[in-house]
Amino acid sequence: MKKRIVLYKRLSDALLARLEEQVEVTWVDTAAADGLARLRDALPGAHGLLGASLRLDSELLDLAPQLEVISSVSVGVDNYDIADLTRRGVMLTNTPDVLTETTADTGFALILATARRVVELAGWVREGHWQASLGPAHFGTDVHGKTLGIVGMGRIGEALARRGAAGFGMRVLYHSSRAKPEVEARYAARYCSLEALLTEADYVCLTVPLSASTEGLIGARELALMKPEAILVNIARGRVVDEAALIEALQQKRIRGAGLDVFVQEPLAADSPLLQLDNVVATPHIGSATHETREAMARCAVDNLLSALAGQRPPNLVNHNSPA
Ligand code: NAP
Repeated sequence: MKKRIVLYKRLSDALLARLEEQVEVTWVDTAAADGLARLRDALPGAHGLLGASLRLDSELLDLAPQLEVISSVSVGVDNYDIADLTRRGVMLTNTPDVLTETTADTGFALILATARRVVELAGWVREGHWQASLGPAHFGTDVHGKTLGIVGMGRIGEALARRGAAGFGMRVLYHSSRAKPEVEARYAARYCSLEALLTEADYVCLTVPLSASTEGLIGARELALMKPEAILVNIARGRVVDEAALIEALQQKRIRGAGLDVFVQEPLAADSPLLQLDNVVATPHIGSATHETREAMARCAVDNLLSALAGQRPPNLVNHNSPA
């Protein structure tokens, strides 16, 4: 008999067909009005779950006593209580690597858009204000040749370092849970404390996972250490930054600007003070959102799920001490 899974992320026809060959699939649209009720109905029979952006709390997990694996279509796993899943004997898998380069592209898009005021000035042109050649009031600031500070030198951090060093001739500083001599050798990057990085960098890019040790990592004290002409780019998770402190720093122009892909509350409220600020570029969590990368992530998640349900150790197992 085929195992049963609950799918709560749309897949391409090809991937859905591949999944349906192996398992019985129940589709649940968690954004629909009856989404949660349908999920609750499907959980008791489920051996696997495949999706993203859903907080599966213990009350929901209690409804799924047969659950063997949750295959998350994301690299970040901050939505899950990993210790609880391990206790329950449920494997958790994620989709690292396949999204690294695309997310680093997003980081650089935010660096460039914020530094060169691309969104603000494109809007200004659209509104018919371009009547004469521009003066300093509309100038931006350079990216090439500046200092890039990377907080969290993992996969995405390294892909940013490569772009900064090789593409833009930037000096690379980084702070991470440990020094990475191989990264230092490749990109002439220098390991430093968070305080030193914040003091020296022109662009501070956040690429740490959200965890107890990174929640609120950048607060009022850290923002105060940044140079007035520096830009903060967050492509990690919203809660890594104290958003109220950031809004205050931006309103008072204590830093030049911010490029933000992630927010404490997503979707970002239309009346967020961040959206009143010309020195902010806000994107709707598009780090990995290209056709190619989202398909690769979904393929990776399907592979993880099928391998776990076949009794193998899935390729991207997050809780290594779970039963596989
Ligand atoms: P990764 O390879 O695990 O890199 C994270 C790095 O941060 C690791 O080097 C880690 O150190 C370091 N780190 C962890 N805790 C730290 C702390 N308290 N202080 C300093 N450094 C710390 O992960 P990744 O694939 O690069 O992804 C990073 C994060 O980006 C994900 O977890 C996700 O939240 C976010 N993300 C966002 C989007 C988006 O759409 N905006 C897309 C993809 C990913 P170790 O090397 O010692 O583990």
